[in-house]
Amino acid sequence: MSDVIYETHSPEETFEIGKKMGEEAKPGLIIAMTGDLGVGKTLFTQGFAKGLGIEGPVNSPTFTILQVYEDGRLPFYHFDVYRIGDVEEMDEIGFEDYVFGSGASIIEWAELIDEIIPEEAVRVLIEKDPEKGFDYRKITIKNI
Ligand code: ADP
Ligand code: MG
Repeated sequence: MSDVIYETHSPEETFEIGKKMGEEAKPGLIIAMTGDLGVGKTLFTQGFAKGLGIEGPVNSPTFTILQVYEDGRLPFYHFDVYRIGDVEEMDEIGFEDYVFGSGASIIEWAELIDEIIPEEAVRVLIEKDPEKGFDYRKITIKNI
């Protein structure tokens, strides 16, 4: 399967790509996101939530690891594992029950728990390129 690559030049464009994926999301979708701090993972996730029809604010659940949203077309599980100490913490919060359930999941900082990311996960990598401007982002989607 080939990669899908988008280039965006504004936060709104990145939001729209997330939103489109949210609109098309099927039960059991897992999106594993990688990219440095401030690159747009949460913004993409906010678009995704919007695409699922979730109305409430979606923020990075950095201090809780998981935020659950039940008011959209599918249950949505938003993980941010930036502060994870050990992958075993994911077992404790029931990671597998969520990602193998019938909702949709996004995991920010997925590379930190790579050994437990399911093989079927869609990979989203967001990168900056200083030569292309402050608001430029390259979004690479694999395994879609
Ligand atoms: P992360 O979750 O990866 O740490 P955030 O989504 O919280 O990042 O923040 C991304 C920041 O980058 C926001 O302040 C956003 O306005 C800014 N930004 C600028 N250009 C873009 C772009 N093309 N796509 C996404 N975010 C952008
Ligand atoms: Mg974030």
